[in-house]
Amino acid sequence: MIVLNYHELVEASPSNAWCLTHEMFEAHLALCEEGLVSPQSFLKHCSDPKPSRTGAVLLTFDDGFLSDYTHIYARYMTTGRIPGFMSFIPVGFVGSPGRMSWEMIEELGRGGVAIGSHGMAHVDLTTVSDVKLERELRLSKSMLEDRLGQPVTLFAFPYGRFSRRVWEAALRAGYTHLFTIQLGYHRGFESFLYSRLCLTNSMDAEYMRHHLLDPDAMRGFSWRISTKLGLYRQLMRWRYR
Ligand SMILES: [Zn+2]
Repeated sequence: MIVLNYHELVEASPSNAWCLTHEMFEAHLALCEEGLVSPQSFLKHCSDPKPSRTGAVLLTFDDGFLSDYTHIYARYMTTGRIPGFMSFIPVGFVGSPGRMSWEMIEELGRGGVAIGSHGMAHVDLTTVSDVKLERELRLSKSMLEDRLGQPVTLFAFPYGRFSRRVWEAALRAGYTHLFTIQLGYHRGFESFLYSRLCLTNSMDAEYMRHHLLDPDAMRGFSWRISTKLGLYRQLMRWRYR
């Protein structure tokens, strides 16, 4: 399966590279909507040794922007056009300008959106103390669980930054699926890591078309050579030690 990662969607004039227009998202969707899977279906099949379906695509949205609620949920999910998505919330931002309120997040949860944590303050977890790391992982999890009334086991690393120390702490805190922004198919180099393509507004429909055909196409030389030699996992374990 292929996992796509979006942030904010706007009508026009994106304010940064990770903000896409509705039109661009619609163009992406037109290319992948037949293959879209719900988060529930993704979680059921994501550990299968052989991919169950080629061309299957999961949508994820980071940072708890209002557009998760006003656009993706209201316009696409409640109308049945998409089967669902994952929404990763930086809990410290809930209710601030441009971000969802707790009431909206609760409604998404009741409506079948898979809610995950994106930490508290959206910090690079590889740079913080052990105490802060624990707080980012555990407080965000318990606050989301209190609000949603169900376990929260999905986590996306802020800025896609992680290390072995970070992932071990996340697993100890009770997360089971950790989402990166590495390229490729959904399975990362560890069984609990999941790769995603992080979309920017320079990635047009043509880029998306290529990615859907071969999500490994943009990966670098070190991935190619180490995979060929069967050393990719070792290389990554050394890099993220
Ligand atoms: Zn983020």
